[in-house]
Amino acid sequence: MQSLVLASGNKGKITEMSAILEPLGWQVKPQSEFFDSEAEETGLSFIENAIIKARYASKMTGLPAIADDSGVEVSFLKGRPGIYSARYSEDQQGQDVTDETNLQKLLTELNGVPAEQRQASYYCAMVYVEHADDPTPIIGLGRWYGEILTEKRGDGGFGYDPIFWVDELGVSAAEMEKQQKNQISHRAQALNALTMQLRRNI
Ligand code: IMP
Repeated sequence: MQSLVLASGNKGKITEMSAILEPLGWQVKPQSEFFDSEAEETGLSFIENAIIKARYASKMTGLPAIADDSGVEVSFLKGRPGIYSARYSEDQQGQDVTDETNLQKLLTELNGVPAEQRQASYYCAMVYVEHADDPTPIIGLGRWYGEILTEKRGDGGFGYDPIFWVDELGVSAAEMEKQQKNQISHRAQALNALTMQLRRNI
């Protein structure tokens, strides 16, 4: 089996990736097994940041690597918070950035905005590099459409999930079963797109 490093410490992501990639002959290892520093995400797009993270993990381990970068884009805010989703509320002085402070900032920015203008989508770029200088990274993309609620619903998921409304199912992302979210989310779509290309390459 060929080893592959996943540029993430998220256990859920590792389990999900292993289930898909092991049958294809890949053993997925978290980057924490090798190092604990982080690449600086200096890109201006999800794709650039995912490539930066994948190259860094590959450079640090000498192994092929997969990395993803994701966030939420709100149309009324012209795509913000976008690539800055994880640190959206860091400008609010004197408070630590958490999922809750990020989500509250988004609710405040959309205060008074009517339902028909609250469209949003989660976006994910997932990248595979064979080695750190790989000139042809393989890229899978995913987008999941929804709307931003005016208050929280549900306590599952993470990040912006309690205020991300999935109209076709009539639930917020935080009210979905984990398995169900893992089948339709932006990350699931990106991972499917990536593995379809990986299969062709092997
Ligand atoms: P990262 O790509 O894991 O660094 O995630 C970026 C940020 O985007 C997270 O910290 C969340 O704020 C947001 N985000 C990405 N995917 C999701 C999701 O599935 N649910 C909720 N928030 C998400």
